[in-house]
Amino acid sequence: MSTPAAAMRHGAAGGEQAAARAAALSKAYGSGETAVLALDQIDVEIVRGRFTAVMGPSGSGKSTLMHCLAGLDSVTSGRVWLGDTEITGLNERQLTRLRRDRVGFVFQAFNLLPTLTAAENITLPMDIAGRKPDREWVDRVIDTLGLRDRLGHRPGQLSGGQLQRVACARALASRPELVFTDEPTGNLDSRSGAEVLGFLREAVDALGQTVVMVTHDPGAAAYSDLVLFLGDGQIVDRLEKPTAEGVLERMKQFDVIRHG
Ligand code: ADP
Ligand code: MG
Repeated sequence: MSTPAAAMRHGAAGGEQAAARAAALSKAYGSGETAVLALDQIDVEIVRGRFTAVMGPSGSGKSTLMHCLAGLDSVTSGRVWLGDTEITGLNERQLTRLRRDRVGFVFQAFNLLPTLTAAENITLPMDIAGRKPDREWVDRVIDTLGLRDRLGHRPGQLSGGQLQRVACARALASRPELVFTDEPTGNLDSRSGAEVLGFLREAVDALGQTVVMVTHDPGAAAYSDLVLFLGDGQIVDRLEKPTAEGVLERMKQFDVIRHG
C-alpha cells in the first residue's frame, strides 16, 4: 500500500479511493520575519463520492488548502495527489491541463461571461479545451439544477441563485473527478443559498460527484457528509453527518480553547 499512514488520519472508511489527498502539506507565504504559515503539515484525504465541508475562522487556511489540493497554488513542502496523480511536481502546463480536465470550480463570484447564454457558459470551458461535451451527462446536470428553461438567457437576465446554478452546471459539465467551491453562497440571499447547497448535495447523491466546499456558515456545512475544521493551518477536528447545531457547538469549543 503506497498510501502514507499519515494521510489516512483524517480520511474516512478505508478501502475507498481518495479523490484527493495531501501528506504533510505545508504552505508558507512570504519569507523571513514576515512569513505566514498558512498550512502546517496537513494530512487529509477527500473521499470520493462524498460532500466534504472545510470550516474554520477567517485566516485559518481554508482557501489555501483548497487551492493547494486543486493545483491552483504551489505547496511549500509535502505532497498532494488528485486521484492517483501526484500533482506536486507537475509543471504549470501540466497543472493547467489537469485542472481543466479533472477539476470543477465554483467561486463566490459567478465568473460568467455576460455576452454568452447560460447554455454557452455551461459548456464554455469544454469548448475552449476542444472537448466534446457528453450531451446526456450535460442534460442530466441541467435538469438536476433546474436550468432547462433558462438555457437561452444571458447572465444579466438571471437572478443570483440562477447565476450560481449556471456556475455549478459549468463546473459539473465535464464530469470532473472533484468539484471545489469556496463560499458558493456568499453572494446569495438565504433562499437562493439553500437552493445552491441543495444542488451541490444532489450532485453528490444523484450524480455521484465529489464536492469539497469551503464555508464559514454552519448551516451550509450541514449539507455536507463530513466537516473538517481548520485552525491555524492545521486540521483540528472533524464531524461526520453534521447538523448546523453540532457544527456551531464545535466552533464554540474552539473559541473556548483559543480564548478561554
Ligand atoms: P481562510 O480562507 O481560512 O480565510 P486563507 O487560506 O485565505 O484563510 O489564508 C490563510 C493565511 O495565509 C492567512 O494568514 C492569510 O493572510 C495568508 N495568506 C493567504 N493568501 C496569501 C497571499 N497570497 N499572500 C500572503 N499571505 C496570504
Ligand atoms: Mg478564504
